[in-house]
Amino acid sequence: MRILVVSDIHANVAALEAVLRHADAHGGVHRVWCIGDTVGYGPQPSTVIARLRELDTLWVAGNHERAATGAMSTADFNPDAAAAAEWTGAHLSDEEKAFLDALPEVIECDDFTLVHGSLRDPTWEYLYTPEVALAHLDLQTTPFGLVGHTHVPAVAILTESGRDCEFFRIPHGHQEHLDPARKLVFNAGSVGQPRDGNPLSSYAMYDTDERTLTLNRVEYEIKKTQELMAAEGLPVWLIQRLSAGR
Ligand code: ZN
Repeated sequence: MRILVVSDIHANVAALEAVLRHADAHGGVHRVWCIGDTVGYGPQPSTVIARLRELDTLWVAGNHERAATGAMSTADFNPDAAAAAEWTGAHLSDEEKAFLDALPEVIECDDFTLVHGSLRDPTWEYLYTPEVALAHLDLQTTPFGLVGHTHVPAVAILTESGRDCEFFRIPHGHQEHLDPARKLVFNAGSVGQPRDGNPLSSYAMYDTDERTLTLNRVEYEIKKTQELMAAEGLPVWLIQRLSAGR
């Protein structure tokens, strides 16, 4: 079975559709796992929610799902993120908000734990350093984990001693061979707002037969999303950053 792993789509339909097309053209998709932040920043929250529901997605909530429904305060968000969260909330139906509010923050499935931020703080902590990765891996009871939130594709692997971990960014084509004796946490990057200096959309494919997790980067029509954002009056920096990938 081939499981598509997407995170941080951020209401960017052009990016999500490009990822789905790419995954379809390269072996197909049987299941979709989403690591949160489907909405916020981008111009098409309802379309992204509907598309993922149609795909019967296994889905954990991120901070942006929580902020869009009012379940999380935006007091600690930067002003652009707070403005976008408010815009998103105003454009979602009550039914969509109830659906988002019902999403869990942690899911264990097969050998995997899915969580947006980290197991120490599921919708808020950024898994950015070996120290945070180690704290997360200590709490992870499955051999493998999937996180998002940083918008930077990376992997952290526990060393044999269990007291340290290797933590590194990963490029397009990077493949992890999954061995239950090698505990790791993998970040598939962001579909809709990459922040590693590369504007290409980022996703991962989990092949359950081959036991591999592979990172992919794909082109999408950035301009299309930017034009929709401008038409909605969303903050200029949020529009510009898509071209820069940061
Ligand atoms: Zn995000």
